[in-house]
Amino acid sequence: MAKPQLLKCAICGKEYEPEENLYTCPDCGLDGTFHVLYDYEKAAKEITKEKLRENDDFSLWRYKAVLPVEKDENIPPLAAGWTPLYSSQKLARTYGVKEVYVKDDGRNPTGSLKDRASAVGVAKALDYGRDVIACASTGNAASSLSGFAAVSGLKSIIFVPESAPVAKITQLLVYGACVVLVKGTYEKAFDLATEAIERWGWYNRNCAINPYLVEGKKTCAMEIAEQLNWDAPDFVFVSVGDGCIISGLYKGFSDLVKLGLTERVPHIVGVQAEGASPIYKAFKEGAPRVEFSPASTVADSISVGAPRNWAKALNGVRSSGGDMLAVSDDEILSAIPELARTTGVFGEPAGVTAFAGFRKAAREGKLPKDARVALVVTGNGLKDIDGARRAVGQPIVTEPCLLGLEKALKERNVI
Ligand SMILES: *Cc1c(COP(=O)(O)O)cnc(C)c1O
Ligand SMILES: [Zn+2]
Repeated sequence: MAKPQLLKCAICGKEYEPEENLYTCPDCGLDGTFHVLYDYEKAAKEITKEKLRENDDFSLWRYKAVLPVEKDENIPPLAAGWTPLYSSQKLARTYGVKEVYVKDDGRNPTGSLKDRASAVGVAKALDYGRDVIACASTGNAASSLSGFAAVSGLKSIIFVPESAPVAKITQLLVYGACVVLVKGTYEKAFDLATEAIERWGWYNRNCAINPYLVEGKKTCAMEIAEQLNWDAPDFVFVSVGDGCIISGLYKGFSDLVKLGLTERVPHIVGVQAEGASPIYKAFKEGAPRVEFSPASTVADSISVGAPRNWAKALNGVRSSGGDMLAVSDDEILSAIPELARTTGVFGEPAGVTAFAGFRKAAREGKLPKDARVALVVTGNGLKDIDGARRAVGQPIVTEPCLLGLEKALKERNVI
């Protein structure tokens, strides 16, 4: 297990010794999120290609030499990570690139990539001897935290906007979380959670505040590289809300270079929904900071108008020579059946947004023919059925007899 060595502010660059209640840079406030740095020379001896080949821990903990948790016994007994990476010849041919890989993170235990962060978050809370963990969430971070808190014996208190999809709220209640539905947007839920956490001293799992959670998310990048036998792709597309996942992907690929396991960091391409695209706008304008604005999109998991991890997200896209894209709700919805029908992977709206962005970039001729592309599917399609239903047709309804069936099948040109 690795002890983080330093916390480095993403804005002013000042470095701090890790401390239990130090979440963001005292000089820069909530904007000053931290990069977590390790003794990479030491870690490089523990995490080698040979050792990983022999490692039969097929979860994100195979990379624990560069994860911030200190005690093995605090690792939650619920597997996260090591999700499949599928190669799709069909998508590569259709969109005129060399290779397309689809990373199905909807296969995590509670159905989203957030499980990578929650696994680390609860282990960290236990490292610190805490018994209550809290967060605000558009939905998935909440379902994820409640599941991991349940197996780890922690009490979880979760703030979600009242409009969160029913499946996600039900998941929370099933796992036994204390669920607080906040009237208003995710931003309101976030602010209330922040105040309550301060007031009652709970452990803060907000990914954009607690620096260790992005460390969990970075393992998605490490897996992509390992699953491709350490030949990292040229481009990685991912959907962006608060900017934690994209920051994690950049961090994961950068750590691999520092550990000598890969040679370069892929171009990281963030995809936002047009109705919730403040990071996209700041990137296109070359702005030094992100302006917050109201958000509205069908993709609830990325319906974020005030992205808290904007500093690390912008830094990751810029440093990797990447790009930001924005796609419409229609483009997101039509991506759901197309991805499912070509790869078998059913993503929720925010889960297929990376694919929608890739499709758009390819159609606009922005990708070289020899490009090797990875698409991260961040959440499972069963999380938000209403979104998916808007993108597909109606089933055939028939009387229970062959004659009725024949008539109905003819009407639909099936026979
Ligand atoms: C949280 C989430 C995102 C966005 O991640 P951020 O770290 O907020 O940018 C994308 N897709 C799904 C399914 C999510 O749950
Ligand atoms: Zn700072």
